[in-house]
Amino acid sequence: MDKIKRIALVAHDNRKKHMVEWVEYNWNTLMRHTLVCTGTTGRLVEDTIRQKAGGGIPTNYAIQRLKSGPLGGDQQLGALIAEGKIDAIIFFWDPMSPHPHDVDVKALLRIAVLYNLPIACNRSTADFLISSPLLDREYEQQVVDYSTYIERELG
Ligand code: PGA
Repeated sequence: MDKIKRIALVAHDNRKKHMVEWVEYNWNTLMRHTLVCTGTTGRLVEDTIRQKAGGGIPTNYAIQRLKSGPLGGDQQLGALIAEGKIDAIIFFWDPMSPHPHDVDVKALLRIAVLYNLPIACNRSTADFLISSPLLDREYEQQVVDYSTYIERELG
């Protein structure tokens, strides 16, 4: 991983308030990295950063916004992970409500673990992740070798 990380931010509706608060607190650090968000989360994150940074925001600063989660955004993010285009995820999922895209949420969590990505699912873990000295350094990520699983599958 490079010094500049590609960080994905996703928050379910009941957790969006917490994401906005977290971004208000950490916008300065986040702006040193590349941000990728699901649709609605991305709009909120971008508005929050623009508000906090005021005139200090570069005109070409843009967050990559995927589709909204229930419309396939989580799956688009999963594809980016599989392509090696994401370095860390802040995913404030809602543990108290069922969602129409629960299967996509599960798939996203699974693919993040499969590719050994740092993933914060609550505020404290997100605080630990954003304050890690590794965030601003190059980092050699261990790649897990799952080939024995596949060989077993094939017999
Ligand atoms: P949203 O999607 O950012 O478009 O709300 C998040 C989700 O529900 O997975």
